[in-house]
Amino acid sequence: MSEAKVALVTGGTRGIGRAITLDLAESGVHVAAGYLSNGDAAQKLVDEARSNGWSVSVHQMDVSSPEDCVRFANEVIEAQGQVDYLINNAGINVDRTVRRMTIDDWHSVMRVNVSGCFYMIKAVIEHMVERKSGRIVNISSIIGQTGNVGQANYATSKSGLFGLTMSLAQELAGKGITVNAVAPGFISTDMLASVPQNVLDGIVARIPVGRLGHPDEVAYAVTNLLSDRAAYITGAVIPVNGGLDM
Ligand code: NAD
Repeated sequence: MSEAKVALVTGGTRGIGRAITLDLAESGVHVAAGYLSNGDAAQKLVDEARSNGWSVSVHQMDVSSPEDCVRFANEVIEAQGQVDYLINNAGINVDRTVRRMTIDDWHSVMRVNVSGCFYMIKAVIEHMVERKSGRIVNISSIIGQTGNVGQANYATSKSGLFGLTMSLAQELAGKGITVNAVAPGFISTDMLASVPQNVLDGIVARIPVGRLGHPDEVAYAVTNLLSDRAAYITGAVIPVNGGLDM
């Protein structure tokens, strides 16, 4: 990867987002990591990056606020002069069967997982088109491909990202900008913390590779899509799932 590239990573201080931030920073990219809460953890990430000689800045923002998304993008463009990569990683789940799911359970997930990506894309798209260069990666999920009991809102939001990715990829293909989705399987982060051990054991038993994924393994897929060598990959969904869905 060439020097002085700049990446925006939403939810970039924890879990998969943190792994993406550190992998990109290690490769010489300046990473602007958005975080919703826990400024102390965010500052620790900046310190960790600095102690390795890497460049990370952190920015408090809520992806479900269009104003925050514009502020985040503009702050970074002003400070760094450019944005080369957008990684839409922030996501939430509010799990209940449809019979128990409230209207707010539905909308809260859509606001973050779908609208949040759209708002961030809107915040950088003109900048990328002007520069005739950019890479956008949306973090979807295997659940968007398979569905899951108790996750109709989450599954719908993550399938929605496939439609967003493919439509935007077509709109921007002639402008030097690629748009792809990464669909992780079950990755060991806080998001799985509430899943009971016996359920996790059952999931692992179905994964051909025989274990949960590591956040770094998702980060590597993202970093590869950002490479100049990936210019011909657009509108794709890259599974990182240990063979769980094939
Ligand atoms: P996580 O809960 O550790 O991270 C989610 C991140 O999103 C956090 O940093 C959180 O602060 C941020 N976030 C949530 N709401 C936000 C908002 N309104 N504004 C800004 N940031 C917000 O979980 P994770 O596993 O690291 O998840 C990262 C992404 O990967 C999510 O989109 C998730 O859906 C997806 N994913 C995770 C798994 C898994 O098994 N862990 C599998 C497939 C997909």
